[in-house]
Amino acid sequence: MGKVVLKFGGTSVGDVAKIKATAEQAIREKEKGHEVVVVVSAMGKSTDHLVNLAEQINPKAPSREMDMLLSTGEQVTIALLAMAIEHEGHAAISYTGWQAGLVTEEIHGNARIQNILTTNVGKALDEGKIVVVAGFQGLSENGEITTLGRGGSDTTAVALAAALGAEKCSICTDVVGVYTSDPRYISEARKLAEIDYDEMLELANLGAGVLHPRAVEYAKNFNIPLEVRGAHVVEVGTMIKEGNLLETKQVVRGVAFDDKIARIRVSFKSVDKMNVACIFTKLAEEHVNVDIIVQSIGEEAGPSAVSFSLKEADLEEALRVLEQNKAAIGYHDLVTESGLAKVSIVGSGMVSNPGVAAQMFTVLRNAGISVRMISTSEIKVSVVVPEVKMLEAAEVCHQTFDV
Ligand code: ADP
Ligand code: ASP
Ligand code: MG
Repeated sequence: MGKVVLKFGGTSVGDVAKIKATAEQAIREKEKGHEVVVVVSAMGKSTDHLVNLAEQINPKAPSREMDMLLSTGEQVTIALLAMAIEHEGHAAISYTGWQAGLVTEEIHGNARIQNILTTNVGKALDEGKIVVVAGFQGLSENGEITTLGRGGSDTTAVALAAALGAEKCSICTDVVGVYTSDPRYISEARKLAEIDYDEMLELANLGAGVLHPRAVEYAKNFNIPLEVRGAHVVEVGTMIKEGNLLETKQVVRGVAFDDKIARIRVSFKSVDKMNVACIFTKLAEEHVNVDIIVQSIGEEAGPSAVSFSLKEADLEEALRVLEQNKAAIGYHDLVTESGLAKVSIVGSGMVSNPGVAAQMFTVLRNAGISVRMISTSEIKVSVVVPEVKMLEAAEVCHQTFDV
């Protein structure tokens, strides 16, 4: 039998009993004959707690120091889990991200994995040990500690599974699988037996926090069978895999939503003054991510303008960049709107079903929900709506498409 990678999220290692239960599961996999790597998150809400401490000390803390701080959370869990496994009479060793060979780019707070040097992990597995690895962290080539973005332990797990040639990667969490929408908020959400990589990637990117988007990207690129299941239950989870699913008749596979979104509208006196490329180049240079972009060329309808959505947290920085480059961009006026959210429907079946977007806009209109922005791809339709209407919009979509 081959290698397996199991990943346990914060809630699932949130106290001593859960760490012991995690140890037992790792041992069970080992006793089945697998070589076992366990990736863990920081216990419970400890990452949030660390963020909160930093905010009280310096709300604009250098991102390098944030990584230094946040990477400590996972280090607590790996040591405790390795001790728990040893206590049960099995050999284990814990590794930080850098000991496990995770080399990342040097972008603090959101680094991408560049390479994984599996020497230590491979050697420990050869020696019959259960290897426990800290999720969410790595080291840049210059020796700087980095983190992979909130929720990034999923990506550590899948990337390790790819680097080790594991036969499966299981993401063990506080829900029993991937649902048609977030079961915490959408009462009719139901568990999916399976979902394809592309749909899962869209859902994750569009706010379904059950998986870190880059974990899905990795799984797709390396064709790693990825399972999401309940951490300490026997129930079968959801398989994320390549196409050809059983439930193909479903046009919409899931509904995702994401809050804390803002919109900026940059208007110009005339089309010739409009330097759209400059707006987005300058924002990109400062690592400000933008999402939906809508351009309107003014004729009788009004002035020319570009509107785009972004995370509320990035609004201040975006405004700073725009104001600093006002002359080069050539804009006349700026308007911002906060308190927005994005609601999206996702499904591979949409490609061959025209009218899905129209149906979505109709039900939202009938529900009195005003749509501020729209974005579509072959397998998704997203709308930006007022944040106070986010859950209502998601419920209505979920019901309409009988997800
Ligand atoms: P972990 O700490 O194990 O990484 P997360 O909180 O990151 O767990 O992810 C699990 C949570 O994702 C669930 O508690 C659930 O509220 C949320 N979630 C959002 N969308 C979905 C979905 N489509 N299916 C399942 N869970 C979802
Ligand atoms: N502990 C980190 C977080 O809370 C990483 C993770 O849990 O995946 O975001
Ligand atoms: Mg998570």
